[in-house]
Amino acid sequence: MSRVYNFSAGPAALPESVLQQAQAEMVDWQGKGLSVMEMSHRSKEFISIAETAEQDLRELLNIPSNYKVLFLQGGASTQFAMVALNLLQGNNEVEYVNSGLWSEKAIAEAKKYCTVHVKIDGKPSKYTTIAPPSTWERNPRVAYLHYTPNETINGLEIQDVPDWGDTPLVVDMSSTLLSRPIDVSKFGVIYAGAQKNIGPAGLTVVIIREDLVGRTIPGIPTMLDYKIHVDNASMYNTPPTYAWYIAGLVFKWLKDLGGLEKMAEINKRKADKLYAAIDGSDGFYRNPVDPNFRSWMNVPFVTTKTELEKVFLSEAEQVGLSTLAGHRSVGGMRASIYNAMPEAGVDALVSFMAEFAKKHAA
Ligand SMILES: *Cc1c(COP(=O)(O)O)cnc(C)c1O
Repeated sequence: MSRVYNFSAGPAALPESVLQQAQAEMVDWQGKGLSVMEMSHRSKEFISIAETAEQDLRELLNIPSNYKVLFLQGGASTQFAMVALNLLQGNNEVEYVNSGLWSEKAIAEAKKYCTVHVKIDGKPSKYTTIAPPSTWERNPRVAYLHYTPNETINGLEIQDVPDWGDTPLVVDMSSTLLSRPIDVSKFGVIYAGAQKNIGPAGLTVVIIREDLVGRTIPGIPTMLDYKIHVDNASMYNTPPTYAWYIAGLVFKWLKDLGGLEKMAEINKRKADKLYAAIDGSDGFYRNPVDPNFRSWMNVPFVTTKTELEKVFLSEAEQVGLSTLAGHRSVGGMRASIYNAMPEAGVDALVSFMAEFAKKHAA
């Protein structure tokens, strides 16, 4: 069996050792005679899996004790509605930063429930740049400020965190959470679909400051109420047990690797290598994003000749460099190089790109 280097934006590559451990435990988890998939979520075995995963995530991200961690379903897309429904009590205005296609979706969803201001907008630049967070003027009237630190499709990443005083910052970290250390205490709500950098699809992680729980508008569905999930330790109904277990294995993998400082070091090196290959290609490859906002996780690029892109993708696939097509809305290529992409995978891509350019330049 040989595994490819999988550059998929999501569901994305998982660490091979995690898959192997899951395989070894698939039929009989730790001598209990059953699979994690078959366990009651109320069993002491699963509760220990769930609690250990939460504890490991708390350690990795250094999550302060006044934050709750939820393991939910519905993806980041459900959070687009949930954040508004849960934070709007007593206020009908919010501020959103538009830095790419996922921001657009979050904004469209919030508009169903409240007045959305969008003062910071990257759309005129085709999402190749955005005003730096230090210049985002605070709007004191709003219930929260929402932004997307890493735009998975556009490859635009906002590294700095704005200072908006008491106004809660709500962030969609689907494609960047766990890629490096962050200061959780700067945020009100952090949410992320798992299938990029955490684990399998079907799990959504929410980290929420305690005092923000219970600000719901009246009449919201039970399953969309953070307080219900907080009060029930994410087990109001059946949680996505198997995805939660795999995420727990990923957290252990990250801890064994040396935690998020170490992960950040590796991720930065991977991204630097790939951007250097693009920028050093004499214009054969191009990444349009302002270098101050280039993503460490998702690297879109095009070639000088669009007709070459099909050839690039099929030749890459043949040598085990898989899923490099850009998002269907933007075309070109995109290499997603999340935590589980080994540095050797980036090295292989960089050599392939150099050879391909040599063959097709001129
Ligand atoms: C993938 C992604 C989403 C959508 O996630 P789902 O889990 O499919 O709902 C939202 N935001 C960002 C930044 C993403 O990368």
